Amino acid sequence: MERKQFLKILAGTTGMITLGSFNNLTGLMAEQDEKHPVLFIGHGSPMNGIEDNEFSRRWGQLGKEITKPKAVLCISAHWLTSGTYITAMPTPRTIHDFGGFPKELFAVQYPAPGNPDLAAETAKMVRKTTVGLDHEWGLDHGTWSVVKNMYPDADIPVLQLSIDYGKPMQYHYELAKELAELRKKGVLIIGSGNMVHNLGMVAWDKLNETGFGYDWAIEMNTNFKKHISDKNHKPLINYQEMGKAAMLAIPTPDHYIPLLYTLALQDEKDEASFFNDKAVAGSLTMTSVVFSGKTVATEIPAKKEAVDSAAVDSI
Ligand code: ZN
Repeated sequence: MERKQFLKILAGTTGMITLGSFNNLTGLMAEQDEKHPVLFIGHGSPMNGIEDNEFSRRWGQLGKEITKPKAVLCISAHWLTSGTYITAMPTPRTIHDFGGFPKELFAVQYPAPGNPDLAAETAKMVRKTTVGLDHEWGLDHGTWSVVKNMYPDADIPVLQLSIDYGKPMQYHYELAKELAELRKKGVLIIGSGNMVHNLGMVAWDKLNETGFGYDWAIEMNTNFKKHISDKNHKPLINYQEMGKAAMLAIPTPDHYIPLLYTLALQDEKDEASFFNDKAVAGSLTMTSVVFSGKTVATEIPAKKEAVDSAAVDSI
């Protein structure tokens, strides 16, 4: 239900209700009938933030297909902290947290506003730990390279939640469950990382061959998708028990943990739809997922372009 409709109903039944008391009754944003989808995005190279390629084009399409959210909350692989924080500034800066890329990438600004009230409300929602209100960070490339393609007008507030990197996988999964209410408030939650992400084994000579993946990368991509489709989250949380291929796919869990946040938010009605399901440079996958109660189109855009061969040291 739209807030406007809800206000009308309230006004019709009580007549005397004020906006202030309305806010106290409902929290920051009115609940809506439908839950917003949850996304896991394989973000890959920061160049996807400015290139028109099959991955960025698909992100752009998604921005049009999904009901426009009231805010975006992104859990990015590139904000690792001790403790958990949420960005709470009114105007988050664009962070260029990479090296060795063209100057056009450093020139990118994504001036989406923040939403300090939503940050405070989200922090209160989490009981598992104290979520600190952050005024220093902003939007790192794990967030802006994706959201800029989805919402180029930068007219939707964007917040980030950090990853408490010292904590076990189960901890992240449980913490994420406490964010479920945001889906009903029109907040689009995005986990931004890469399921298979081994920078030490990048095939530098195959950077332009989209679709090339080592056997272990393809094996894990298949395993991940099967468990996600089956809603079988336990082996995904305990990925260390999935054997040697898993160790190669996830040498460090920074890019994998955002997936756990999105899995935890999947409810019984949500089906997983995959897109950008491709390996890049042998040891990375761009495989992404929409969790939604409604079918979301997931076709790859018709025009194909190779991934840029720019440096990938900060992917
Ligand atoms: Zn990255």
